[in-house]
Amino acid sequence: MQSPWDCPDFDDHEVVHFVTDPQSGLKAVIAIHSTALGPGAGGVRFWHYAHSGEALVDALRLSRGMSYKNAMAELPLGGGKAVILAPSDGSKTPDMLAAFGRAVEGLCGKYITAEDVGVTVADLVAVSAHTGFVSGLPAEAGEAGGDPGPLTSLGVFLGIKAAVRRALGRDGLAGLHIALQGAGSVGSGVARLAAGEGARLSIADIDPRRARALAEEVGGSRVEPDAIMTVEADVFSPCALGAILTEDSIAKLRVPIVAGGANNQLATAGDGERLMERGILYAPDYVINAGGIINVALAYLGEGDEAEVKRRIGKIPARLETIWSESAATGRDPAAVADAMARRLIGRA
Ligand code: NAD
Repeated sequence: MQSPWDCPDFDDHEVVHFVTDPQSGLKAVIAIHSTALGPGAGGVRFWHYAHSGEALVDALRLSRGMSYKNAMAELPLGGGKAVILAPSDGSKTPDMLAAFGRAVEGLCGKYITAEDVGVTVADLVAVSAHTGFVSGLPAEAGEAGGDPGPLTSLGVFLGIKAAVRRALGRDGLAGLHIALQGAGSVGSGVARLAAGEGARLSIADIDPRRARALAEEVGGSRVEPDAIMTVEADVFSPCALGAILTEDSIAKLRVPIVAGGANNQLATAGDGERLMERGILYAPDYVINAGGIINVALAYLGEGDEAEVKRRIGKIPARLETIWSESAATGRDPAAVADAMARRLIGRA
C-alpha cells in the first residue's frame, strides 16, 4: 500500500487529518497544505469516491490549489480543503455534518471551511452550529459574503476582457463570440455580463434545459456539450468541469483565448505549455476565478463590505496582465508562471 508521503500529489502538506466518526458514519480527509499566510482556508466537498485513496488525492490537490489561489488573491489565508467520503447511497445526514463541524472545531482555527461541490449553504449553517471556523454563510444585501457564484462570474468576466485586450487588442466584448461550457452558477453570470456588453454566446450544458434557458435569456445559441470545445470563437470559457484541457482537446480548440471559471482546467501541467505552443492565451484558473473566495474570505475576516469585495475583484485583470507579461518575457506558459508566483508568495520558491 502506498504511503501518503509517497503520493505524487503530496507537496509537503503541513498536516493531513483522517477523520472517522463511527456513530454518524462520517469519513473525511482534511488537508492543510500551507499556513504560511494564514489559516488553511478552502471548502469541503461531499463526493462518493470509488476508492478512499481518491479522496486523499483530491484533498491533497485541492488544498494546494487553495494555497495558490488565496496567495494570488492577496488574502491573509493559507490553503486547506476537506473532502467527506459520501456513502454509496449519497446520503448526507445532519449527524455527519455535526461530526464534521466538531472535527473542524478540534483543529482550533488551523482550517476554515466553506462550500464546495455537494455542500450547500444550508449544510454550512448546520456545520456552523458546531464550529465558528466556517466561511460562506448567508449575508445581508450590501455585506460581503453569501453566494460566491455571482462574484466569481464578475472576476471571470473582467478576466475575459483583459485577455481580449491582450490577445486581440480590443476594448470590450461587443461583437465578440464566446463559447461557454457550463450554464450553472458561474457560467450563467458570465453569460449575462458578456451579453450585456454585446458579446454573442454559444452555450453548452449537459443539462439541455439549462443551456436552452440561458441561451434564450441572453440571445445566444445552444451547442451540444461534445461540440463546445471545437466551436470557432474569440474566447472559450470553461465554467463546468476540471481537467477538460487535454492534449487531445487542446489540439482541436479554434479560439485564441481560454478564460473561464472552472477549477483545475488543465489535465496535466504540460497542457499549459501545449496551449502556449498553439498561440492560445490562457488565464490561469485559480487567478481568474478568485472572486468567490475573495467574497467569502472578506466576510469571514470582517474586512469590508460588498463594495470592498468588488474593488479587490477589480485587481484580477492586472494580476493576469502581470502573469502574461512574465510569460511573454520568459517563454514559460502562464500556468507555470502563476504557480511559481504563488509558490514564492507562500515561501516555497
Ligand atoms: P454549477 O454546478 O452551478 O454549474 C456547473 C454546470 O456545468 C452545471 O449546469 C452542469 O450541468 C454543467 N456541466 C457539468 N458537466 C458538463 C459538461 N461536461 N459539459 C457542459 N456542462 C457541464 O457550478 P458552478 O458553481 O457554476 O461552478 C462551475 C465551475 O466553477 C466548477 O469547476 C467550480 O469548481 C468552479 N468554481 C466555482 C466557484 C463558485 O463561486 N461557484 C468559484 C470558483 C470556481
